[in-house]
Amino acid sequence: MKVLKFGGTSVSTVETVQNISAILKKTDENQIIVCSALSKVTNMLEEAAAKAANKDMTYRDVCTQIKMRHHEFIDQLIPTEQQDGLKQTIDYHIDNLEKVLEAISLLNELSQRAYYIIVSFGEKMSNAIIYRYLQIHNGSVGYLDSSELIITKTTNGKEDVNRSKTYKNIEKAYDPKFKITVAPGFISRNEEGFATTLGRGGSDYTAAIYAAALKASKLEIWTDVSGIYTADPRKVQNARPLEKMSYKEVLELSNLGAKVIYAPTVQPVLDENIPMAILNTFRPDDKGTLVTTETDNEKPVKSFSTMDNIAMLTFTGTGLVGNTGIAGRLFNVLSDVNVIIISQACSEMSISIVINAKDAAKAVKAINGEFDFEIRKGFVKEIVAETGYCILAMVGEGMKNAAGITGRAFTALGNNKVNIHLIAQGSSEINVSIVIKSDDSAKALNALHEEFFK
Ligand code: ADP
Ligand code: ASP
Ligand code: MG
Repeated sequence: MKVLKFGGTSVSTVETVQNISAILKKTDENQIIVCSALSKVTNMLEEAAAKAANKDMTYRDVCTQIKMRHHEFIDQLIPTEQQDGLKQTIDYHIDNLEKVLEAISLLNELSQRAYYIIVSFGEKMSNAIIYRYLQIHNGSVGYLDSSELIITKTTNGKEDVNRSKTYKNIEKAYDPKFKITVAPGFISRNEEGFATTLGRGGSDYTAAIYAAALKASKLEIWTDVSGIYTADPRKVQNARPLEKMSYKEVLELSNLGAKVIYAPTVQPVLDENIPMAILNTFRPDDKGTLVTTETDNEKPVKSFSTMDNIAMLTFTGTGLVGNTGIAGRLFNVLSDVNVIIISQACSEMSISIVINAKDAAKAVKAINGEFDFEIRKGFVKEIVAETGYCILAMVGEGMKNAAGITGRAFTALGNNKVNIHLIAQGSSEINVSIVIKSDDSAKALNALHEEFFK
């Protein structure tokens, strides 16, 4: 049994949907297919929700656009006589969407619960269309309702999958008599039964969950590029696809901003040792990238990635020197903030904390509150957040065995007059992360790529 996931751009044109149908015909193995919402629809749903919460009634226009987009797509894909209630299914979802949006506009606020309901409509509608198309072209097709089967729990303000409950649900619901089964991506529910989602980009994770629950022979992530590249091909013209990568490398890369795989996807397939391929729906014959425990050791650096909208906080003062417990207090107050890099110089005079810019105000308030006494006494300086930074990460398992890699990277950056503000290397030595000014991001990324992948 294989699980195939098709992203938003892969379910948005007649050509790619035809490709999906043809890809599914290539094997006799049972297949589960997980699709995202049509491309940009989740953004439009978020836009409509934000408008409604601000009492901006043009949210209704956004709903009309979403409805028309799905109707047109149905007309392009399915002859009228075979549509058989499909447009009514879309209209039913749009009616519900409008009702929730109206409630949001009356309340003048967007709760988390309402947000989840709104963004869930994209996957419900796209998967209904794909399901019908495959019934017509690929024989009898089963359906697994992810919004019932995938159970999430809230951890640190984010939804994560309760894997044991979810796996049991999936094992029970899956009917192997269907050669093909459609299961929508992204959508889920929590233990109380309210709608939730797996986070933006979460359909990859949905597919990994089905693959792990049913011990699939393979997970295929079909997208709009031919695999994982040496850098985001939209940012580096000469980037090229990698044939082989290890789970660990993909985990690091996706955690450090590479959108091609949603980071939580890796763990479930790694745990079950399920090979994962990244493939291109627009060019189904391209080789793509195969992710397993093995890597290609000839290439010490595999890929570069950048993470934008980063803030740096520098905590300094004589009070830090030789005093135990300072770092503990600091991280305690940051328990709600996603800390990306921490670095302390040996002199102990300063600790640098790298976080997402959106968390900066919260972090500054928490730290200055905790150290109010020390600040007033002059032991530590009041912390301020500096924004306008990005992280540039280089990832590769082979870096730990190859000397001089960081030296080459720094020379290349120096030659291009890129100022490095902070360097961090994980003890696993799979990644080296550098904090630089956002304005230098494109130049630095291209300079490093040129140095290592000439
Ligand atoms: P989907 O909608 O199929 O999930 P995404 O847009 O989420 O697709 O992910 C694919 C995109 O990821 C590519 O179009 C590419 O711009 C971006 N990307 C970022 N880093 C990389 C990388 N190292 N290799 C390939 N693609 C990357
Ligand atoms: N539709 C969702 C999003 O755009 C989930 C996904 O595409 O993976 O974030
Ligand atoms: Mg994606």
